[in-house]
Amino acid sequence: MSADDPLKEELRATILNGKIPNALLFTGSCEEDKLSAVITFVKTINCLNSSPSCLPCNSCRSCMKIDAKAHPDIITISPDAEKAIIKIGQIRELCGATASKPHEAMMRMVMIQDAHTMNQEASNALLKILEAPPDRTFFILLARGLNDLLPTIISRCRHIRFRPLRVSEIEQRLTQDWGVNPSIAKIAAKSSNGDVKKAMMLANVYEKEPKNGNQNQIKIEKKIEKIDWIKRRKSLLNQLIMVIKPDEHSNSSGAASKFLLALIIAEQLSKEAKIIQELSITLIKLWLRDMAIVKFSKREEELNLSQIVNVDFIGQISDLCMRLSDDYPILALESIHLVETKLQTNASVRLILEQFFLNLVIKRG
Ligand SMILES: [Zn+2]
Repeated sequence: MSADDPLKEELRATILNGKIPNALLFTGSCEEDKLSAVITFVKTINCLNSSPSCLPCNSCRSCMKIDAKAHPDIITISPDAEKAIIKIGQIRELCGATASKPHEAMMRMVMIQDAHTMNQEASNALLKILEAPPDRTFFILLARGLNDLLPTIISRCRHIRFRPLRVSEIEQRLTQDWGVNPSIAKIAAKSSNGDVKKAMMLANVYEKEPKNGNQNQIKIEKKIEKIDWIKRRKSLLNQLIMVIKPDEHSNSSGAASKFLLALIIAEQLSKEAKIIQELSITLIKLWLRDMAIVKFSKREEELNLSQIVNVDFIGQISDLCMRLSDDYPILALESIHLVETKLQTNASVRLILEQFFLNLVIKRG
């Protein structure tokens, strides 16, 4: 959370007046900022050296245990890695874990990460707990937005909104805190939709401690395997170009090989973890958006490069724009929005992706 963020004041006021809500809900696209606020908040409440500034001392037993993720009264629930949802069993376990008094904390904290991934049963089970909150315990739910949360859950929580970080702020964090090359930082920041964690992945930052980090900064946990996203992004976009590019000599074997390639890409992507699929879809969407911008900047001098995300692909994008119909980028963008919507349902990921990539070939006209 940036120092000038007024939300920090909201949390500080809560601590100062001594009325910690039973449940807080933090929403916003930047996971790192939400986590950082959670840690500062719980450390401050439990700090053994209380200070008038309302900040944790970072050196007492409680602060150090929280930092080391070794505090017995800090309970974290996150979506299961395979299905990316929070199941009822995970919430039920909470009942047992919070039935007795906290071990040593003044206030025990239960943090539910990606609370929007709770299914209906899990949400209802949580609601029951929130209706009769356990002793000296508060809940913090983290979510991207309010959309996928039950209204009854939202109404039980004090809602605190985190604004997405500006591209320039993310770029600065990547270059200054993590020593990322400026041109890579620019593309990663623009592709991240205000989420530092995504930007870090795209810039291949997998270290645990920032080069110039402050003590309240959360250490990013690596639940997923290390992926070379710099390489992966390039190869994904090159595959996309291969699919979209009109053939030099239009013949049936050329078209057939495009369809085959479309199916292969769809199959590969459908086998990946959900987080990889989502980030890949975002990268494709931004690339298509760049294409629309280039297409509608009629003359070269009208094109504002600062609006383009994939500046390293500008040559290929311009070349494709000259060879494709005016409405192609818009049709393609519509298709990818549909993919995003459908991926939130239970439909077959492979079929959704196949349809999308095949459409990219068909809609070239
Ligand atoms: Zn302390």
